[in-house]
Amino acid sequence: MHEGLDVVIRARRGLLPEGETGCVIGVTDGRIEAIEPPGTPLGAATELELADDVVLLPGLVDSHVHICEPGNTDWEGFETATRAASAGGITTLVDMPLDSIPPTVDVAALELKQKAAEQKIHVDVGFWGGVIPGNLEQLQPLRRAGVAGFKAFLVDSGSADFPPVDLATMEEALRLVRGLGVPLIVHAESNEVAVGLETVHGRKYADYLRSRPSGLENLAVAQLIEAARRTGGHAHVCHLSSSDALPMIASARREGVHVTAETCPHYLTLCAEDIGDGETICKCSPPIREAANRELLWEGLRARTLDLVVSDHSPCTAAMKTGDGGDFATAWGGISSLQYTLPLVWSGAKSRGFSLADVARWMSEGPARLAGLGSKGCIAIGRDADFCVFAPDEAIVVDPAECHHRNPGTPYDGRTLTGAVRFTILRGERVDGALPRGRLLRYKT
Ligand SMILES: [Zn+2]
Repeated sequence: MHEGLDVVIRARRGLLPEGETGCVIGVTDGRIEAIEPPGTPLGAATELELADDVVLLPGLVDSHVHICEPGNTDWEGFETATRAASAGGITTLVDMPLDSIPPTVDVAALELKQKAAEQKIHVDVGFWGGVIPGNLEQLQPLRRAGVAGFKAFLVDSGSADFPPVDLATMEEALRLVRGLGVPLIVHAESNEVAVGLETVHGRKYADYLRSRPSGLENLAVAQLIEAARRTGGHAHVCHLSSSDALPMIASARREGVHVTAETCPHYLTLCAEDIGDGETICKCSPPIREAANRELLWEGLRARTLDLVVSDHSPCTAAMKTGDGGDFATAWGGISSLQYTLPLVWSGAKSRGFSLADVARWMSEGPARLAGLGSKGCIAIGRDADFCVFAPDEAIVVDPAECHHRNPGTPYDGRTLTGAVRFTILRGERVDGALPRGRLLRYKT
């Protein structure tokens, strides 16, 4: 049995779908061929015996990353982003359609991205397509060319070449994605409310927070839910910050509306009360809210109203992030955290009584399902042999000098976290950073 294995991995603790258990895993051609009990005498050219203090997790999937290449490679790029991902236990990224030039709103732009990524990626990379005013006829060709699904904004995205769509266009897009069998990911903040609010300049976080109230999210999530109800399309709420919206999402799901939702490490980790004057490193939209809101987001994960946790890694240059002397109105909105998402989420999860199985559901299985990645998301026979070797009890200190992002600025600088990624395995081989072995993920329809 199990002849001709390429790699055998022996783990005292492996996170399998049925729970954490000792296991021996056999890999052939980059796929999991065998999962046997400890002590099973499997042999292969390469054998890996994991240390007693680590857990073998499925490779993480981050379905919300802004890689910014081509065009804004001084912000981030495929080489640096995928290197950071591999250092963080992530084996698959799905790139957002904006912040690169051009944005991924037609097939020519997608091909430019794929070309830019070739030969540079240390983990697997897929792409979302964009929905902007006037490009609905591009959705089917983009899907045929291999995107995982689509992303739209209801509010100003910060990028002039990726304008928001109105509610009618969003609804039409939901109708179209239903036919294509993919999700529409929506940045759900209401433009109609936002345009009526004054931009407040200054270094006070409370002023910025007041300029992006929960109501922007609550209204837009309600509108998205009703459009999903009318069309039957799959609406995915990205980066939910307002916990007020959780009961709406939960009730819509009970009623059979196809709506899913994600949140991000910064909403689960940081809180408005702790953000000092001029700390624009913490600016993002929707904004980080109060500690009480943060705890309700954790409860949303516990209730499974929130399906996944993804980085929304959204980098820029240090100068853009600082803005005009720490002015929250002019600083770029976006948090960089790709390399640290697992220890960030695990630190918060562990202290609130969650297990590593919960974390793997939020950070591997959930994002893989959203992006339609049937070969990723769990340790099971036939899946890609993608793993994160994680020491859950080891403390780490976030150090910009060890950060592989192009711009290392992060709100977590100097923070002590629980859990260390020892190394990452992509299709059976340890990612060592020397040879980029990542593949471009193209969806076949
Ligand atoms: Zn984003």
